[in-house]
Amino acid sequence: MSVNLQTPIDYLKGVGPNRADLLRSELGIHTYQDLINLFPNRYIDRTQYYKINELQRNNAEVQITGKITGFREVAQKRGKRLVADFRDDTGTMELVWFRGQKWIRESLKLNQPYVIFGKTNWFSGKFSMPHPELELLNEHEKNLRSTMQPIYPSTEKLSNKGVSNRVISKIMQNLFLETKGQFSETLPSSLRSNLKLISKSDALFNIHFPKSTNLLSKAQFRLKFEEFFYIQLQLILKNLIHKSKIKGLTFIKVGDYFNTFFKEHLPFDLTNAQKRVLKEIRSDLGSNAQMNRLLQGDVGSGKTIVAFMSMLMGLDNGFQCCLMAPTEILSVQHYNSLQELCKPLNISISILTGSSTTSERREIHKKLENGTLQILVGTHALLEDKVKFQNLGLAIIDEQHRFGVAQRSKLWKKGAEASSQNKKDSEGEKKSFTPPHILVMTATPIPRTLAMSVYGDLDISVIDELPAGRKPIKTVHRYDNNRLKVFRFMREEIAKGRQIYVVYPLIQESEKMDYKDLMDGYDSISREFPMPEYQISIVHGKMKAADKDYEMQRFANGLTQIMVATTVIEVGVNVPNASVMVIESAERFGLSQLHQLRGRVGRGAEQSYCILMTSHKLSEASKTRLETMVRTNDGFEIAEVDLRLRGPGDIMGTQQSGVLNLRIADVVKDKDILNTARNYAKDILKLDPSLGLQEHKMILNTYRQMGKYKNIWNYIS
Ligand code: ADP
Ligand code: MG
Repeated sequence: MSVNLQTPIDYLKGVGPNRADLLRSELGIHTYQDLINLFPNRYIDRTQYYKINELQRNNAEVQITGKITGFREVAQKRGKRLVADFRDDTGTMELVWFRGQKWIRESLKLNQPYVIFGKTNWFSGKFSMPHPELELLNEHEKNLRSTMQPIYPSTEKLSNKGVSNRVISKIMQNLFLETKGQFSETLPSSLRSNLKLISKSDALFNIHFPKSTNLLSKAQFRLKFEEFFYIQLQLILKNLIHKSKIKGLTFIKVGDYFNTFFKEHLPFDLTNAQKRVLKEIRSDLGSNAQMNRLLQGDVGSGKTIVAFMSMLMGLDNGFQCCLMAPTEILSVQHYNSLQELCKPLNISISILTGSSTTSERREIHKKLENGTLQILVGTHALLEDKVKFQNLGLAIIDEQHRFGVAQRSKLWKKGAEASSQNKKDSEGEKKSFTPPHILVMTATPIPRTLAMSVYGDLDISVIDELPAGRKPIKTVHRYDNNRLKVFRFMREEIAKGRQIYVVYPLIQESEKMDYKDLMDGYDSISREFPMPEYQISIVHGKMKAADKDYEMQRFANGLTQIMVATTVIEVGVNVPNASVMVIESAERFGLSQLHQLRGRVGRGAEQSYCILMTSHKLSEASKTRLETMVRTNDGFEIAEVDLRLRGPGDIMGTQQSGVLNLRIADVVKDKDILNTARNYAKDILKLDPSLGLQEHKMILNTYRQMGKYKNIWNYIS
């Protein structure tokens, strides 16, 4: 009879109620299945023994054979520690315990050969090992040793309560004994033979008790593939279901607005990338499924015109459209540029923000509801309940990392209000509502591999080409002691009529210090660039919104030459005449933030510059970031480096998607396996979207099980 893997962990030999509680609370292990899926973080070589005189001061984990020659108690600030002298034929070292001293003292035997294992410290001229694992040599020799002993994830509480790595290994052994190591296969044989994957049982055995390095790597490959495969299957299925179940408004025709604009008013030739993306959007809008698309494009790649032309497709089919931006400044800029484009086409457009007056609001509400207002631009204010569209067809969100998923869905419901109102007016019966199409625009590039696994529910378009004739921004790195030269350069640029940003970091934890830096910087720049010859703006997060806007406007209108600011200017501002970006303490910014800031310049016809100022003290990671900035202007390349430096944890969106809740695979290191898994998942679903074929039965069952026992994806530290 086979063992049911959903058996609670309490029933396993060697576990018991206390350990079961610990395993549940610390590692989320409730069942046999959960324990099998606790994969080792790494493996260490337990066939290797060190001599005390071979130890290095590198805190490595080592295994040494020797004898305890005596114990001592040493008083310390709180309580005392127990110290043992440990000796082999090459030298002596100390073993140290801060807890469980009585028990240790009573159970350990003096002058008997022991094997100790643990991390070594170097302290006042001596090596020591705190809380070593200890085993009498003759017992040690009875146990099988492997060159790859697994080290399992653990927590402080677990080790304090004696659930050591050895204990976990032991209960894992018990589990394999009880189940005879036979586990149901989860991947069909065709797939396994195609990819030369070993069986599930072999993979699980070798991940926990590797027989050889070769088998270990085969086990890892098989389990990583499987993990990615089922996540991708889930994401792709979600997307397919979305497309088949969620009806969209069909924009049947390309009409007068679009055609007239395209033929007569387009201010420049579209780049090929812009054309391609417009086609992708057009094809979504013309189908009967709701569009949910992410538009990625580096700063300055021309997303606005794509947004506008998409809205024209909506207007041509009699729908209203809206564009939401995260800040008032950005909304105003969008409004201004869109208004210019709307004029020759006689399109009605308005802006709604926190500072719209009551009468402006009333007017907007009225025109939205009676359908005479065609395009509404604005901030979060668009999400207010009072804002009701007659027939919202397309909602565009700019700079998505400032908005969450919740806001996306709120916009989505704007369509619901509209159509439910229509219903009541007309026939009073209940019709299913059709949500507006959604286009999300972001200038924060996400590496493709990650994007497709993170945004499973969004389709992705990429503008990967800048408009012709753009001069790449020249980026240099300068040390603080070169500041005078930098000032001289700034003066020259201002003399040519250019404007300059000087940006200071603002990091929550050291906010006070940062503001001091900013103010000191402002003082020194004011001295170097005295009035009335020079005018300086300052903008930071502690100012009132109105004051910020006032200063931004002065700079945008060319009334000031220098803008001293914290990162509040990061998002989207467009001042084409600004051609120099000086970033102070650049080592303190993340790569994507540096890239975003640099994107504030290089928007006009002039050569633009970015100057990264730092002190001489630079970490390796800071150096890499600075070198990357100097080397390239390509946002995707920068995103790749960023991903390598930081891991996926900090990349936006990853939290929501499950790609981080991986037990064995790593989106960065294993991205080839990820791609393979995704392609297989795609092919299988293309052939058999409902997984109904006999050969896919195993996949369907596993997939269903995963949903049922959802903590299978639990993240373990
Ligand atoms: P972003 O993608 O950062 O939002 P914008 O849409 O603001 O970029 O475009 C940046 C600038 O490039 C704008 O001044 C815009 O008019 C201009 N632009 C956009 N597309 C083209 C193009 N195909 N050719 C020339 N200039 C363009
Ligand atoms: Mg933009």
